[in-house]
Amino acid sequence: MGLFDRKEKYIRINPNSSVRHTAKREAPEVPDELFAKCPGCKQSIYQKDLGPAKICPNCSYNFRISAKERLSLTVDKGSFEELFTGIETKDPLHFPDYKDKLVAVRKKTGLDEAVLTGVASIKGQKTALAIMDSNFIMASMGTVVGEKITRLFEYAITKRLPVVIFTASGGARMQEGIMSLMQMAKISAAVKRHSNEGLFYLTVLTDPTTGGVTASFAMEGDIIIAEPQTLIGFAGRRVIETTVRETLPDDFQKAEFLREHGFVDSIVKRTEMTDTIGKLLSFHGGVK
Ligand SMILES: [Zn+2]
Repeated sequence: MGLFDRKEKYIRINPNSSVRHTAKREAPEVPDELFAKCPGCKQSIYQKDLGPAKICPNCSYNFRISAKERLSLTVDKGSFEELFTGIETKDPLHFPDYKDKLVAVRKKTGLDEAVLTGVASIKGQKTALAIMDSNFIMASMGTVVGEKITRLFEYAITKRLPVVIFTASGGARMQEGIMSLMQMAKISAAVKRHSNEGLFYLTVLTDPTTGGVTASFAMEGDIIIAEPQTLIGFAGRRVIETTVRETLPDDFQKAEFLREHGFVDSIVKRTEMTDTIGKLLSFHGGVK
């Protein structure tokens, strides 16, 4: 039979055609941004089916979203006023390629640093707001991230506002060495001053919240809520397994595991997040 006897790698669709269909010709040209592979169910999902909240229609996996996407899902339309822009990121260690990396990532994300800060209304409740963006050097915490969040708390104290922070971070920014680690103490002191004023602080942990951010302001909220399946931890799983010489449970460092063990107060679906935040702000002496 001709079909099986052929030595050619690719069969001809039209046996009379002289055009051989090579792999190159057959490869469909699909733009990268048209489909997204879901980390939850491993299916290819048509981007449009994810909707603005970017939730997998098969398995409800929450795709990571940018700070600007989060902002538009969360705040009352037109209510956001950005604050503390234009603080220059220094390169204290003269870390190789750090300055170039900053230029490139600023262009890619349209952000000046890994956190967006300002004031907004959420369901009619006025609040100071910070949203971290994992597209910006994994939302690592350098001096500017630390400074913006500290100023946000200081601003909230003077204006008698609550603070809401959406955390997402790979931890401290290694390119700024110990200057990054100092931000943990600096922000924590500002959180305490805000708390001493009797003002409300809410943290929303989003995927991934790790390292020095978890070890400081992410876990200092009066109420700590998380999106489903969020990775929350300090050190990486393998580091801990090697140190304690034990195999950890599969869901270790997942939001659900942390809720069960008392580190997270509630798991809130992305579609219900805005309503939940609005209610929590109003319960805690909301400001209109
Ligand atoms: Zn999925």
